[in-house]
Amino acid sequence: MKAEIISIGTELTTGQNLDTNAQWLSLRLAEIGIPVGWHTTVADDFADNVAVFHTAIARAGLVVATGGLGPTQDDLTRDVLAKVAGVELRFDEVSFNHLRSLFARRQRPMPERNRIQAYFPAGAEAIFNPLGTAPGIWMWIGKCLVVVLPGVPSEMVAMFEQELKPRLVALGIGGGVQVQRKLNTFGGGESHIEEQLFDLTRRGHVPEVGITASEATIALRIIARAATAAEAQAQIAPVEAIIRQRLGDLVYGVDDEELQHVVLRLLADKRRSLATAESVTAGLVAHRLATVPGASEWLRGGIVAYTNEMKSRLLGVPAELIERHTAVSGPVAEAMAAGARQCCGADLAVSTTGYAGPAAGGPDQPVGLVYVGLAWDGGVGSWSFSWNGTRTEIQGRTAKMALNRVRLHLLST
Ligand code: AMP
Ligand code: MG
Repeated sequence: MKAEIISIGTELTTGQNLDTNAQWLSLRLAEIGIPVGWHTTVADDFADNVAVFHTAIARAGLVVATGGLGPTQDDLTRDVLAKVAGVELRFDEVSFNHLRSLFARRQRPMPERNRIQAYFPAGAEAIFNPLGTAPGIWMWIGKCLVVVLPGVPSEMVAMFEQELKPRLVALGIGGGVQVQRKLNTFGGGESHIEEQLFDLTRRGHVPEVGITASEATIALRIIARAATAAEAQAQIAPVEAIIRQRLGDLVYGVDDEELQHVVLRLLADKRRSLATAESVTAGLVAHRLATVPGASEWLRGGIVAYTNEMKSRLLGVPAELIERHTAVSGPVAEAMAAGARQCCGADLAVSTTGYAGPAAGGPDQPVGLVYVGLAWDGGVGSWSFSWNGTRTEIQGRTAKMALNRVRLHLLST
């Protein structure tokens, strides 16, 4: 049995809005053991919708559609379903009373158009919507279960979690569960990492191990399918242990964890404070740290020193050092970090300097060349890297590189 997802809306087919519902639903369905075979996107056109639903019902065991349930003229999904099933629309008293009570609570008269939201194809059931006026639709057409949810992502998510998921699980449509575990790494290239895991990433390995790269973070996704979550976890654990053993401290976190979360956890564990001195990233490192709740306890402050003059004036980097080595150099990165550490009275300071483009420093100093400096009690250090990418990519990756340097330092001391 495979499912098909139908995303309905002219705003999607014109490219104005990105279809995020199909992605989200596919991930959730997979978790309850329902593989998705098709994604279909269709504009708000009656005949095209009818054709799309006919095709889907003929090939899929489950169709989950989103959109077109609103009260306006371009919302056609309930009429489309009635046409496809060959039935008429019927008024549903319970849904109507719920609609009326929603408007009464907001002390607004109910527009006549909203009445249409209380109509359902004969034989369909309404799915309660805790967040909005549009109820969902649950309907068997032949051997295919067709479910329609509102297009608004927050409503769709709430209805899937609260209503649809329990019903699908109770029906036993899925084949067991799927559990995913993501191991995030930074500092190794994709092919270098794959080389060390060739036996695990080959097709057909159980559990499945996949590699994805995004903004210099290489993630290993372990996907296990089993009858129960506990069995799936039991498949994942030994594979995770092998990956961690082979990759060592390249692995920084799991699932949605980012470098800034890990850095703040380590700072808290070791009770150390941090400061930043940023040129090429212009505050990005400090900003990412500040997105983590509780950051103020360990992040003392940050200085954006963009020009050479500011590096000297704010961070005390000797002008003569910049002249001798240029602003994008190890010695300057180290002096920036030392300056920020002193200025902020922090245990540790990290710095960034580099060329984000389009201007480069010269033939030996291409766009993408960056240095990260670190200053701690008793020493300084610097590391360079040459990134490919756009200005924003170079800045984002350099911020990660800086956070990673702090992480590695904290792990080793
Ligand atoms: P509808 O339920 O068709 O009235 O959709 C209401 C709003 O939800 C649209 O204007 C979109 O902004 C949003 N929306 C609809 N479908 C999707 C989708 N597949 N992915 C993301 N957003 C969507
Ligand atoms: Mg719409």
